[in-house]
Amino acid sequence: MTPGWVASRAGFCHHRRTAMATADVVVVGGGANGTSTAFHLTRLGVRNVVLLERHWLAAGATGKSGSLVRMHYTNEHESRLAFESLKVFQGFHAEVGGDCGFEPVGFVQLVGRSYADQLRRNVAMQQRIGIKTELVSPEDLPRLLPGVTMDDVGGAAWEPESGYADPNATAFAFAAAAARAGARIETGREVTRVVVEGGRVVAVETQGGRIATPVVVLVPGAWARPLLEPLGLDFGLLPYRVQIAIFRWPPGMARGHPVVIDAVHKSWMRPEGSAGTLIGVELGAGHADPDRYNESVDPEYVAHCRERLSARFPAFASATMRGGWAGMIMMSPDGRPIIDRIRSIDGLYVMLGDSGTSFKTSPAIGRCLAEWIVEGRSHTVDLTPFRATRFAEGQPWIDESNYGRERLTISR
Ligand SMILES: Cc1cc2nc3c(=O)[nH]c(=O)nc-3n(C[C@H](O)[C@H](O)[C@H](O)COP(=O)(O)OP(=O)(O)OC[C@H]3O[C@@H](n4cnc5c(N)ncnc54)[C@H](O)[C@@H]3O)c2cc1C
Repeated sequence: MTPGWVASRAGFCHHRRTAMATADVVVVGGGANGTSTAFHLTRLGVRNVVLLERHWLAAGATGKSGSLVRMHYTNEHESRLAFESLKVFQGFHAEVGGDCGFEPVGFVQLVGRSYADQLRRNVAMQQRIGIKTELVSPEDLPRLLPGVTMDDVGGAAWEPESGYADPNATAFAFAAAAARAGARIETGREVTRVVVEGGRVVAVETQGGRIATPVVVLVPGAWARPLLEPLGLDFGLLPYRVQIAIFRWPPGMARGHPVVIDAVHKSWMRPEGSAGTLIGVELGAGHADPDRYNESVDPEYVAHCRERLSARFPAFASATMRGGWAGMIMMSPDGRPIIDRIRSIDGLYVMLGDSGTSFKTSPAIGRCLAEWIVEGRSHTVDLTPFRATRFAEGQPWIDESNYGRERLTISR
């Protein structure tokens, strides 16, 4: 074992000593996407994988995620990533090992009166991909969502196999599986610089010394800017603070409910624990400094959530608030992630601008990046639509069949 590295098989090591080291691939960031990438690299036979996390695993958006796992997107590319990822969540124990806490409680997408055609087109697109989903008739909706108010609903879609997972457990399990396969997972070790010479990656610098490597995968979430700026890379990324609140089920509500995205009230919700509902609501701009943000939920936000939740399920008007939190995501200019190999710097791969929607897709994102690094192309899902150059090309991503959210600012 290289001096300075602490064996990772027994757990995740905190960096202790300065060492000059080498790696075949360095992954920067220990969230769901970084750990998934490290795991999939080991899966494809890369022996010397090093993952560096400046705090602890899932310290970023992942640890705070609402962790909805649904396939319904208003574009085919993210639906494909989500669908490939669902297979991993479903077979997690056998494929990765450990438990990702996946709860397949089902998923309902609600849209407003003027979006029924868009919903129909999106469901047809998802069915073509192979996703189990169907339109729900107004008569059937109360069966899926008892107590629902439907006056403003123009359409609903149902996914019986979707649900939510435990985002911390998912990241821990990916990291543990990568470590079992020989990867070194170091927490408490911040990357201060990606070193580029002659147009190619040669190393990363950390407070604990330099690691020579020909390949770096940047997956730093909302903390990307200090790593990108010295490389002359600017993708217009903005860190946002997003919140969730939890409400105890009102009296009389005895059984769980599916995950719901309510495009009318711009809210999303899922069960939390055995008698609670976790909800997030779009609030518009929430730009914040990721190094100095308030991790708690704002009182006004709680009131806003109760109002939106009870507008859809009136029984929640007097539900007791049971907590909440805030996390940091990184928005890209078009609200879609950037997953790419940076052409101007050989050996640099990125997953940036998670845009508050990239937990559920992390299994496939990690696999695609690993395929690209090892096999020269990603064959699980075509990543071309996620390319970094789309903004410079003047072709930001716009979903034709959206539900009125030109600019996505909600996390789910
Ligand atoms: C409140 C909330 C609700 C959400 N709900 C959902 C949802 O329902 N479904 C869904 O799919 N997504 C959801 N998301 C979004 C999802 O959680 C994120 O898209 C996803 O977790 C991003 O994972 P990541 O690994 O890319 O980044 P992160 O989890 O942010 O991880 C980045 C890591 O990199 C580390 N790091 C940064 N800089 C450095 C450095 N220089 N050196 C070393 N380490 C570094 C950070 O400490 C951090 O741990 C939600 C997010 C939030 C905050």
